[in-house]
Amino acid sequence: MTGARTVVIAGGGIGGLAAAAALAHSGLAVTVVERASRIEDVGAGLMLYQNGIAAADAISTRLGQGIRAAGHVVGSDDVRVLMDSTGQVLAREPIGEVGRRLGLPQVPILRTALQNLLFREAVAAGAEVRLGTAVEGYDQDSAGVTVSLSDGGALDAEVLVAADGLNSVVRAALLGDGPPRYLGYTSVRGRVVDSALHPMSFVVNGLGVQIFVAPADARTLYWTAKITAPQGVWPAMGQAAALSVLADQLADWHEPVVQMIRDTSVADVSVTDIHDRDPISRWVDGRVALLGDAAHPMAPAMGQGANTALEDAVVLAQALRSIADPGEALLRYQSLRVERTTAIVLHSRRQGAVDQGASREEAESRDSVMRSRGRKDEATFDVVDWRPDEGSCGAETDAQDRTDSRPQTDTRDVALAHGTRLGEARS
Ligand SMILES: Cc1cc2nc3c(=O)[nH]c(=O)nc-3n(C[C@H](O)[C@H](O)[C@H](O)COP(=O)(O)OP(=O)(O)OC[C@H]3O[C@@H](n4cnc5c(N)ncnc54)[C@H](O)[C@@H]3O)c2cc1C
Repeated sequence: MTGARTVVIAGGGIGGLAAAAALAHSGLAVTVVERASRIEDVGAGLMLYQNGIAAADAISTRLGQGIRAAGHVVGSDDVRVLMDSTGQVLAREPIGEVGRRLGLPQVPILRTALQNLLFREAVAAGAEVRLGTAVEGYDQDSAGVTVSLSDGGALDAEVLVAADGLNSVVRAALLGDGPPRYLGYTSVRGRVVDSALHPMSFVVNGLGVQIFVAPADARTLYWTAKITAPQGVWPAMGQAAALSVLADQLADWHEPVVQMIRDTSVADVSVTDIHDRDPISRWVDGRVALLGDAAHPMAPAMGQGANTALEDAVVLAQALRSIADPGEALLRYQSLRVERTTAIVLHSRRQGAVDQGASREEAESRDSVMRSRGRKDEATFDVVDWRPDEGSCGAETDAQDRTDSRPQTDTRDVALAHGTRLGEARS
């Protein structure tokens, strides 16, 4: 063990790359180990709310600006149309109003666009990223942590951050708390370019189904259909069958919505069963800490999984920057994050069950609540009104990338490894 301020991050998803950028900007020597060999340029989008945008701005001004430029910035007068499956409008939710009140926008964005921005920010800040390598476990003693890798190698570091997602192997080693819990619905999602519906935001309610649609950039709409179903059935179909079964199942829905689904390219379809876990108060074992879905996987009903992972990254960086002892710093991070994320996990679980409208009575109740409340979710304002502490950002390092002071990933190889989107952006 060298004793240098070194951090290994297991997982280069949204949380892992955000943490890499935040920690590298804070002066730590970061290595990200990501199992996938490339980030595929497929899939749908996700919603960054004001809390996620505040976290991205805190990581660096350039990252926040990049997200605004790559995604769709919701305007202050924008509405989300809430409707039933026949197209009858239940309410028009003033989604831009929150941005006006909080002084920060909501920004839906393609998942790969966000991941590529985070990747570039992390590398520019000095992080090394190893693609195509999985973390298999860890050992630690008072001097440091040794992370074992799938290529037979090992990395020594002062701290291991587990950002390896819903089925985290580091969490399994740390807590051994078994698999996540299936919530009774699956998600089929995709995107369409130049749809006649662009740039509308809308939610369509059916019996045991809810579809969420938002613009992800100047030409793209993304959609997510959450479907009440037994575990494993939809993922087992594969992309093409899932898309065609969904379109058939919704054949008598409002025609433009069905057409949007039929216009989706099979290659852009993702199918995932939805899980969460009961919240826990222990995310830390000595020099090892959980982050993002590895710590607090949640139903996507409130769109907060990635947003809270970005928050985690900022708070972790602040703790490691301001507290010399790594174990104490990780416990400080844990104490600042557990209560808030516990509330969001539980709220998302409840909201997700309501959204499904799994029986006729539940569907009618969901629709009538939306009609009378005029919005999809309860209590979003409190959740999105999060801000990092003063001084928690790496903004002062914005102008000073650390690419000359750390052993670097070969960015040309990474551009190729990251597929078309990053490759195009760099050429
Ligand atoms: C349908 C749906 C819609 C959603 N919509 C939203 C939304 O609108 N807004 C929002 O904020 N959130 C949303 N989320 C949640 C969000 O996607 C997740 O919370 C977020 O991706 C978590 O980031 P993460 O980095 O913790 O995990 P992930 O993004 O899953 O990344 C984990 C990474 O770790 C890698 N990995 C796994 N195991 C290993 C290993 N052993 N070694 C090395 N690498 C490993 C994986 O390859 C992956 O790259 C949605 C989720 C779903 C399913």
